[in-house]
Parts: sequence; C-alpha cells; structure tokens
Amino acid sequence: MIDRKKLELLACPQCAGTLTLYIDEQNNDAETLICRHCQLGYVVEDGIPNMLIDAARNLAEPAITENS
Ligand SMILES: [Zn+2]
Repeated sequence: MIDRKKLELLACPQCAGTLTLYIDEQNNDAETLICRHCQLGYVVEDGIPNMLIDAARNLAEPAITENS
C-alpha cells in the first residue's frame, strides 16, 4: 500500500496535476495512480510508483481484453 503522505507529494509528471489512487480489487489490490487530465495511469509496484510517462497506461484507449 502506498503511503498517503507520499501520495500527496506526487504529481503527474506530464501536467503536474493531482493524482488519484485507484485500487483494483479484482487484481490483487493492484495500485495505480490516475491522472484524469492526461488519462494516464501510473502503476505502483511494491509501494513505489513508476512515474515514467512512457511506462504509464493510456486510460483513453479501450482496455485490452483477453481473447474471448
Ligand atoms: Zn497529467
């Protein structure tokens, strides 16, 4: 779990905007920091957010679904 205090210090590297923590309970409580402005999701691994824009998930694109 990411530290709330740490979260308050973090800003989107692209727009310097506020990030929202999203916890995916369907996926082992995987944490993602969301920037709604940029539609980017920064993945948190072991409590450490990966703030690289290149590594962020583009939330504007449709979610990749497994073959169905
Ligand atoms: Zn942003």
